[in-house]
Amino acid sequence: MTTVERQDEAMSANAPGAAEQDTFRSTDPASGELVGVFPVQDAAAVEAAVARARVAAEAWAALGFGERRLRLAAYRGYLARRMNELADLVHRENGKPHDDAVLEITLAIDHLAWAGAHAARTLRLRRVAPGLLAANHAAYLEYQPLGVVGVIGPWNYPVFTPMGSIAYALAAGNAVVFKPSEHTPAVGAWLARAWQAAVPDCPDALQAVTGLGETGAALCRAGVDKVAFTGSAPTGRRVMAACAQTLTPVLMELGGKDAMIVDDDADVAAAANAAVWGAMSNAGQTCIGIERVYATSAVYDAFVREVTEQVAGLRPGSGPGAAYGPMTMASQTDVVRRHTDDALADGGTAALGGPVPGTQAHGNVIAPAVLLDVPESSAAVREETFGPTITITRVADAEEGLARANATSYGLAGSVFAGSRSRGLSLARRMRSGMTSVNSVLTFASVPALPFGGVGESGFGRIHGADGLKEFTRAKAVTRQRFPLPVDLMSFRRPASAAPALARVIGVVHGRHR
Ligand code: NAD
Repeated sequence: MTTVERQDEAMSANAPGAAEQDTFRSTDPASGELVGVFPVQDAAAVEAAVARARVAAEAWAALGFGERRLRLAAYRGYLARRMNELADLVHRENGKPHDDAVLEITLAIDHLAWAGAHAARTLRLRRVAPGLLAANHAAYLEYQPLGVVGVIGPWNYPVFTPMGSIAYALAAGNAVVFKPSEHTPAVGAWLARAWQAAVPDCPDALQAVTGLGETGAALCRAGVDKVAFTGSAPTGRRVMAACAQTLTPVLMELGGKDAMIVDDDADVAAAANAAVWGAMSNAGQTCIGIERVYATSAVYDAFVREVTEQVAGLRPGSGPGAAYGPMTMASQTDVVRRHTDDALADGGTAALGGPVPGTQAHGNVIAPAVLLDVPESSAAVREETFGPTITITRVADAEEGLARANATSYGLAGSVFAGSRSRGLSLARRMRSGMTSVNSVLTFASVPALPFGGVGESGFGRIHGADGLKEFTRAKAVTRQRFPLPVDLMSFRRPASAAPALARVIGVVHGRHR
């Protein structure tokens, strides 16, 4: 049975009277309409997928960089040609506007192109300097694929986020078993089917397994060579605990509480524009979204005015022209409500928005909120809100803004707006985060050569760029003796004078340094 047939069979769980297999439903968050019914794949099904991937991994690795690059190109060509079909599915299943889905898919395609084009030069066998002690040897380094990578993804960017692991893992020569979020299984299954259609001679190099958290947990236990997890920190801890049992390495892409600093000489209108997009696009459900702004006294009033004006013009919803869609997970509405309520109870004020209306009556669409001078101890400043809200806090200067931005257990990304190039760069480099954009937001995610990942509670390891390729490899070191030395130091036959002579040489070379 081909993989496509298997997937079709799995999807036939849709049909009445289909085999008795647990299923779950994926629905449109705006309308509640059914998007699809998917199998809850159990441990046996996950293990079977990993076993198929294990076979595919050998064939895929054996293709070499050039042949893999061709197939990755065929995959991105397939995605590009069916962009609107996929964007429509993302819109229906995740709720984001169609145009934002197009943007997301475009970014994913660009990463696929970069990973395919740069894998060879980043990972291939190269000679490195052998150094003084092994001068008679040639030294070789290469980055070899791990085998099978399990990718566990979230729902907020159901194409771009998992593709940050999938594209780089595949380009490095691994097979991938992908467990999409239970909130976006249709998109995950679509991506796997697209692979099988575009790369028919290695269909099992990318497979999707659907299910709830337990299916993800089964993937952690299925003997994969690495788990690339993107999701929340609490689930990340569970994934690490499961992987610890088998010493399976993990990559953790977790949440954030990203801040923007607006300096005295910043372009306030540009900063406001970026802050509004960074905070409100995708209904604020962006791991690298801006959730907090620290604006200096010099620009605070103008910045608040500009942000409020822009946010007042946003119309959320699900129809054409909507700025952003409904909350993908209805339960997230409660988190946003709690944070907003706490912020106001703690002494903050709402320049716009405020108490979040009831979930049912509004179809999970939350009006945007601009919250001012919320105490740093408040949940809206400390915890990931993941909603269309932004806090703006007045600070004396950018240094105070930086200190507050860094006073969080998270450390994913952030933004700095400053007129001075050197000052902007200095603030960005000192921000405790994996990525920072100066005079823009989120830009680093669209630069394929730049690594993407966090520090602290935001995780560890990197996707994207050369680091992202290496993340899915193991470094392999080889030496080859070119000619024997008259005295072999690593031999029981070395003369007694060898070690004292070595000590003298090392004394001359290194002993002069104080
Ligand atoms: P989540 O942690 O609830 O779920 C993520 C995935 O883990 C899902 O596929 C889920 O089924 C699976 N899962 C659940 N329990 C599991 C278990 N015990 N073992 C293995 N897998 C399990 O996260 P979410 O709500 O889907 O995503 C939102 C979070 O993801 C936010 O915190 C957001 O900031 C973060 N995120 C981070 C990045 C990044 O690159 N750093 C990108 C996007 C989203």
